[in-house]
This record gives sequence, C-alpha cells and structure tokens, in this order.
Amino acid sequence: EAAKAAKYFDQSHFHSSQGVGEKVEVFAQLNLSRPLLRGVASIGFVSPTPIQAKVIPIALSGRDVCASAQTGSGKTAAFLLPIMERIIQRGGGNTKNKKHLAATRALILTPTRELAAQCLGMMNAIGKFTDLRAALIVGGSKNINSQAAELRTRPDVVVATPGRLIDHLVNSSGVDLDDLEFLVLDEADRLLDLGFQDEIHEIVKSCPSERQSLLFSATMGTKVDELIKLSLKRPVRVHVSAKDK
Ligand code: ADP
Ligand code: MG
Repeated sequence: EAAKAAKYFDQSHFHSSQGVGEKVEVFAQLNLSRPLLRGVASIGFVSPTPIQAKVIPIALSGRDVCASAQTGSGKTAAFLLPIMERIIQRGGGNTKNKKHLAATRALILTPTRELAAQCLGMMNAIGKFTDLRAALIVGGSKNINSQAAELRTRPDVVVATPGRLIDHLVNSSGVDLDDLEFLVLDEADRLLDLGFQDEIHEIVKSCPSERQSLLFSATMGTKVDELIKLSLKRPVRVHVSAKDK
C-alpha cells in the first residue's frame, strides 16, 4: 500500500498540466471538511492525483461528471471524497439522534466483488472520522438475508455489484433507493465488458431522476458513451491522459 502511494510522489505530477486554474498540490486546497481531510491524511495521501484534483471541485459543485483516466490513477477517491463531503453537508451520517433522517444517499456500482470491497475499504478509511456508514452488497459468501437486514438500517452509502443489487430490488428485500442523491458507475468499461448493461439500465431506472451521477472508466468508447447518455445529465467530461497521470 505504502509502495503504491509512493509511486505518486515519484511521478512529480505537480509539473503535469492540469488544464485550468491553479494547480492543486495538497488536499487541504480542496473544499473538503476537516474529518475528511484527517481521514485522507491518516492513510498517507498528501497530494491529490490529477484526476482527483480535476474531478473533486466539479463534483462538489453538483454537476454530473464522466471521467476517464488509466487504472491506478486514483479514481476511487475522486468520487468518494466529493460524495462523502456532500452527504455530510446535507446532514448525513446516521447518528443516534438523527435516525429519522436515515436514508441511503449514494449507490456505487462496481463490476466485481473485489473492486467493491476495495472501494468500501477506502470509504471506511477516509471516513473514519465521520459518522458515515457504508454497506457492501455483493454476491458470494454473505447471506442475502443478512444483507437485506443491513440495507434496512439505511446505510448512507451502498457499494454493490449489479447482479446482487438487482436480486435485492426484485425481492424488495430491504433496498430503498427513493432518497438516493448520488449514483456512481465505477469502471464503466468493465461493467459493460462483463455484460451488466441490462442490469445497469434497470438499476438506473429505479433511481430518482433528481440525482447527481458520476461515471468513471479507464477507457471510453461507443458503449460507454451510450451508458453516459442513459445515466448522466449534461455531464462535465474530464480526461487525464497517461502522460499526465
Ligand atoms: P483507479 O480506480 O484509477 O484504478 P484507485 O482508486 O484504485 O485507482 O487507486 C490506485 C492506488 O492509488 C490505490 O492503492 C490508492 O490507495 C492509491 N491512491 C489514490 N489516491 C492517492 C493519493 N492522492 N495519494 C497517494 N496514493 C493514492
Ligand atoms: Mg477504480
């Protein structure tokens, strides 16, 4: 983990072009609240990667974003941080005295169990100084009934693979997307390569149309473009090329 993190500092991406505005050299320059900055610092992140520096301000403004950057460029925190920030600003975090506000605000779809677990791990690490709760909804070992019970507690964020989420939607077993404010399609190219197109369409239809949507992909193409048209509204397009990574 430390070695992976170190590779960013070696690449001195301060010198790469970031397109517009001032270069963001440290996380504190982004409009993130103190608990999140502490969370980021606690896992050893100092500078945002280029995709994070570009996406976070746009996503914090409430716009839909579709972003492409190669694998390993830090896309997970690029969507987690602004979403967590916006949930906190809107009074999320299901603390005891705010139970009546408990609702699932964000849904993150990833292609595989492993990627979902990594995403949840990063959210819990970044969020350890917040009240935010996340649930992992993937196929495999965990019993579907215990997942349904966890969903009924209305975690702020649900990180899911499409197949298992559909199972819960079809069985109306606990999942409630009525108050959803944020939808993330992570690794969109792989979601499509793995044949999840119909599942994603069905899930997008189940989400409120008033929402912020973010799509991340290593590669773009016709099928990803179709998915963007289906699930995003007037998205800001962000691209970090391999040489700028
Ligand atoms: P991607 O989704 O673009 O493939 P990830 O979000 O999985 O990339 O991040 C790749 C690796 O980089 C992870 O190990 C992550 O912890 C690390 N990382 C992400 N952002 C930073 C940062 N700002 N500083 C240091 N390391 C980072
Ligand atoms: Mg990723």
